[in-house]
This record gives sequence, structure tokens and C-alpha cells, in this order.
Amino acid sequence: MALLGRYLNHLNHLKTNSPALFHHSCRSYAAKKSFREKYQALFYPQRPEAPYDFVCQIGDPVLRQKCDLVDEQLIGLPKFQSFIELMWKVHKLYGCVGLSAPQLGLPLQVVVIGCTEEECKAAKSVFVQPIAKKVLINPVMKVLNYKSKVTGPEACASMCCYSALVSRFSEVRVEALNEKGTKIAFDANGFEARIIQHEIDHLSGTMYVDKMEPRTLECSVWQNVNVRKGNCQIRFKPIKDSLLHKMKLI
Ligand SMILES: [Zn+2]
Repeated sequence: MALLGRYLNHLNHLKTNSPALFHHSCRSYAAKKSFREKYQALFYPQRPEAPYDFVCQIGDPVLRQKCDLVDEQLIGLPKFQSFIELMWKVHKLYGCVGLSAPQLGLPLQVVVIGCTEEECKAAKSVFVQPIAKKVLINPVMKVLNYKSKVTGPEACASMCCYSALVSRFSEVRVEALNEKGTKIAFDANGFEARIIQHEIDHLSGTMYVDKMEPRTLECSVWQNVNVRKGNCQIRFKPIKDSLLHKMKLI
């Protein structure tokens, strides 16, 4: 979708015309293309413009970079609000509990978290608990108890069909701006604290595989692979409202 193009054009416009307003521009997009990149562009299809309406996968450099702070004065702009809406749309489509901006290809410090009772039931996991919907912009997290850690399963839409056990702090405090640009602060524990740590890690280019217990990594559908004798494939974007999607078969 062309939203990012329009968004970045707008940011470039702001940067050009009021550099003080937008001192944290998207560094990656400002970088000049190398000769190799230009050469490759001749033979390979062009990348779609970010933000994507799908979740990019591990290996994409955007998932390994430190995300830029969002200028508070940009939050109220319609283009930024459209981006937040897109994040919620993808969050719902993928059945996520949390999603970060770099997963849609945009290296900005924005996270959405949330899980309704209904979505928790659909997840069919005792570890998944309801979380109130929140948008966290430029979040700063503080661990409240360094001695209290809990190990539990984690998955990530940027590593489709895999999961592993990860140890996380059980109590954290978060300060951030919400979607209106208002400062919010709250304490989180248990499942919500885990999701917050996972998503805030994304903003510094860290994935759960960097913190997992390596021998617990598993393909979440390994049993299906056996039942189908290998005749199945991973779909990297769910088909909206598809029965197979609801049955978690794709
Ligand atoms: Zn993730």
C-alpha cells in the first residue's frame, strides 16, 4: 500500500521545511542505494512500500534495527492515525496479542497490544490472558522486580509457525504516549508484562529467539506436518475470515 510513501513524503517535507520538528527521521530510508542494490533492483521485483499490510519475517533488516522516536507533534496527523489503524487491522488479521511498527516495515517506536476474552478463548492456551487495548508510542519500560522472572511460551508473527520458552520479568512499569499523544503510565504483570517486553524488544531490533531457551524452539504445527506427510505449507498472510485460518490450519 502506498500509505508509507505518502507518510514518508510528508515526513521528508517536514524534515526539509522544519528540521527541528523532525530530527529523528527514518535513517534507513534516507540511506543512499548501493550499486549492488541498484543492480539487484534491475532483476528482482521491487519491495512493496512500508508500512505493509502484512507482517515481515525474520531476516528483514528492519527487524534488527533500532527504531526512531516518534515526534509528538506528528501523532495527531491523519497519516499517522491511519498507520495506527493499519496496525490494529493487521493485529486482528494475524490474531496477534501485540504488534510493533517495524513488523510492518516501519522503524518507529510504536506498539499496539490487546487481547479480548473472545480472542483468548480462540487462542486455546492457558498462558494467553485478556489485555486491554493500548497504543504505546515511544514506550519506556522499567523492571519493578529484577528477582521475579517467569518462563513461558512465546511466538511472533515475524517468525510464522514457531514458538519457544522465554524467561521474562513478571512486573514492569511502562510510560508512553497513547494514540492521542497523551502521556500514560501503568504497571503490568504476568502475561501483559511478557507481551510488553516482547514488543518493546522489537523496537531495539531484538527478537524472542535472542532470549529463548534454544532447545525449546519448535515448529508449532510439527504434528500436522507428520499427519500430512509433509504436504502442507506455511502461509505468511492469513486469509481474512477463512475457515482454514479459523481452524489455525493456515
Ligand atoms: Zn514479535
